[in-house]
Amino acid sequence: MIMNRKCILRLSRYKNALKRLKALGFVKVFSGNLADAAGVTSSQVRKDFSLFGITGNRRGGYKVDELINRIREILGKNEIQKVVIVGVGNIGNALLHYKGFEAGGIHIVAGFDIDPAKYQRHAEVPILPLDEFQSFVQENDIKVGILAVPDVAAHHVSEIMIAAGIKGILNFAPIQLRGAEDVIISNINLEVELENLIYFINAAGKTGVLSPVEDE
Ligand code: ATP
Repeated sequence: MIMNRKCILRLSRYKNALKRLKALGFVKVFSGNLADAAGVTSSQVRKDFSLFGITGNRRGGYKVDELINRIREILGKNEIQKVVIVGVGNIGNALLHYKGFEAGGIHIVAGFDIDPAKYQRHAEVPILPLDEFQSFVQENDIKVGILAVPDVAAHHVSEIMIAAGIKGILNFAPIQLRGAEDVIISNINLEVELENLIYFINAAGKTGVLSPVEDE
């Protein structure tokens, strides 16, 4: 089944909410608990779950453990997801060393750069020359990559990534890249996100009303 990105994002939020609820000792939850935690309506939660054949019991709710496993299966997280990073500058380096991905089964396995001063072949997460990207990705069957090079290099580097077999790119370069037929590109422009927030905060300062920034 092909899911749209918003639906996948919601499933990911449900899973994180479930993990929090589990840590708090919850064994069962209701759609309302998840709706609050994930910032959506209860009917949206039920709609998403019925789409995947997840059924709860109206009185008893959903079993937390079963739900976490089912969502993991749907998101493909029961398998470890290997991810590479191209461009090990400030952002790339921070992501390369971020430990928080591991809990979600995501492993950053290598970084790539064109600056020889950045290479660290024997580090726990090696940083390798971009020339080795294609062979590394193919040998390790990697499908997802993070792009964190300057904007002028982003398009060219995305083509190298796609040619090597990467199917999903998380792009931090401040330039909108378009996916190809079988490649998804998610553009994260931190400056635009901040500008967006600043705009709404300033607008709220004038009107006293804080409008929602996020669309579901
Ligand atoms: P950031 O943008 O992450 O804050 P920065 O300001 O430290 O990083 P940038 O100039 O944005 O540095 O470059 C990010 C990284 O991308 C650097 O390590 C740079 O060597 C690398 N880089 C630049 N061009 C390419 C390219 N064509 N292929 C791979 N890596 C590249």
